[in-house]
Amino acid sequence: MYNQKKAEMIDGGFAFDGKSWLFDQNYPPRFLLEDESVLLFKEAKSITQSSFTSGLGSGVRTLYKGFDKYPDLSFETQAMVDSTTGHAHLTFVPLATDSLPIKEVFFPQPLICQGENSYAVVNTLQGQLIPNDWPEAMFEKKGLPFNGQMCSCGAYLPWFGEIAKDGGYLCYNRQPWDSAYTIEHPAGGPNRVYYRLLPSLGAMRYARTVTYVLVPRGSDYVSLCQAYRAIADEEGRTLTLKQKAALNPNVAKLVGCCVMHCPGKTHVVEDSFYYNREEPEKNDSLHTFDHWTQRVKRLKDMGVSQLYLHLDGWGEPGYDNKHPDYLPACEAMGGWAGMKRLSDTMRDLGYMFGIHDQYRDYYLDAPTYDIDNAAMSADGSVFKQARWAGGWQNFLCASLAPSYVRRNFEELFRQGIHLEGTYLDVFTCNEPDECVNPRHPMTREDCLRYRGECLHYLTAHNIVPSSEEVNDWAIPYQVFCHWAPYYGETAIPVPLFNLVWHDCVMIPWMMEADSWGMPKGTNGFLQALLNGGMGYMSESKEGEELQENIRQWKVISDLHHKVAYEKMVKHEFLNESCTRQRTTFSNGITVEVDFEHNTYIIKE
Ligand SMILES: [Zn+2]
Repeated sequence: MYNQKKAEMIDGGFAFDGKSWLFDQNYPPRFLLEDESVLLFKEAKSITQSSFTSGLGSGVRTLYKGFDKYPDLSFETQAMVDSTTGHAHLTFVPLATDSLPIKEVFFPQPLICQGENSYAVVNTLQGQLIPNDWPEAMFEKKGLPFNGQMCSCGAYLPWFGEIAKDGGYLCYNRQPWDSAYTIEHPAGGPNRVYYRLLPSLGAMRYARTVTYVLVPRGSDYVSLCQAYRAIADEEGRTLTLKQKAALNPNVAKLVGCCVMHCPGKTHVVEDSFYYNREEPEKNDSLHTFDHWTQRVKRLKDMGVSQLYLHLDGWGEPGYDNKHPDYLPACEAMGGWAGMKRLSDTMRDLGYMFGIHDQYRDYYLDAPTYDIDNAAMSADGSVFKQARWAGGWQNFLCASLAPSYVRRNFEELFRQGIHLEGTYLDVFTCNEPDECVNPRHPMTREDCLRYRGECLHYLTAHNIVPSSEEVNDWAIPYQVFCHWAPYYGETAIPVPLFNLVWHDCVMIPWMMEADSWGMPKGTNGFLQALLNGGMGYMSESKEGEELQENIRQWKVISDLHHKVAYEKMVKHEFLNESCTRQRTTFSNGITVEVDFEHNTYIIKE
């Protein structure tokens, strides 16, 4: 049931529950053009406003027509309060905008949120809170991941929000694939958060809406997560792990597993950014399939009952080389026969075997490479870089990726490789691509659907699909990930993604305190417990260190069996310095951790 309180339109913003929310007039709605110049909406020669009422609510439309340099330019903005939900929708409607070389549209303006203990709720990776008066400047040097592009790790969830003493709001972007966001926070504040709407295939093309969900006094970041989940459920974007387990029996087998990443062949080509010129012998390394077969047998003997092995660099070209022409299995590692021995052993031990694979990076030295298959940007150019081990690459147009997945996996099956999981790199981390090649045009929204199709192919073959991180758009497709930690630049880490989607995706945590994305003063063991997640197993530790890894995993695994299918319904800070935290799951289990004293309490 929706709140009986509804947003009300007032001059310059909204009113809700006795509080006024005003747009910051220092950020007038505007276009950023290709040449970095700015055109303000209010520079229009004709601006006319009209109010309207429809079956769904009422609001105001503003029509902008005719600009000095762009006499044909016209567009509309609409602000409407939905009479059922009480939510406010702000829409940008392009009428005739093709003459304008648009890079970004800054609409709507940021709201002003202020007062003691007010903070912004931001979905950089797993999530964070930024107090309005936070002493440090944020995102000034490195910016947001992928420049704030939504549907990338810059925003695991397609919204941001702010909370004050007397209420708060969540601002949900309805077309996140063609949007980015900015958060400004100079030292000492204040926060200003706003969207930048992006052209699609070189034009604005269609109307864009953001929805403000206003929440009453006493709400917090957990309330925003719950409000968002309710919306996503109604929109039919939820697929729980229970539902995923009904589609694919190996999903249930993954619950409680530890995850071990194992390197196979590494080969860094001279063109690569990572090529080591001083010590060229370091550009190549190799572990055989049999090496890993021996280790998993030993782990079984040591009491590791459940394990998922993620094998890197198993193809002849070596890790991150020549994709998507990655087969056959690496000869020097033992070839198809060695890979089959490993996969058979894994099955016999009751373990799960999975491979690292990649269908976005498209290497120029792949035997079937053809630039015509690469994603073509809106300006007709084809992106090219030589960053990763394999050197020069484009991006494969995602519209072709599902067919390449099928081609490669049919051969893996023919070779008798038994796969129960597979990792498709970067899909849930990097920004969506678009393509204007007339042979396979693709919007960013299409791109996400094609990436999902690749993951679905795996599900159809009882292979549990994984990708690099997690993202709201991938909820219908993805079961687990490589990791989903916190952004390097985080004020107060909070598990916003888990508060929305814990019962839909499994997240493993690196155990080391200093692993990437681990907030200072915390460690992966306690984060895995607090987040009801999975734990990693070291592929190289021995002796007491390995014993300790196994002991910690057993604690994590025991909890994961109890909460994997549950929602995370609450997250709380128990002390001022935030070192003591508690989460609550939908079956009543609570996990309290103390990062300072390295202790935990699990209550059932
Ligand atoms: Zn294409």
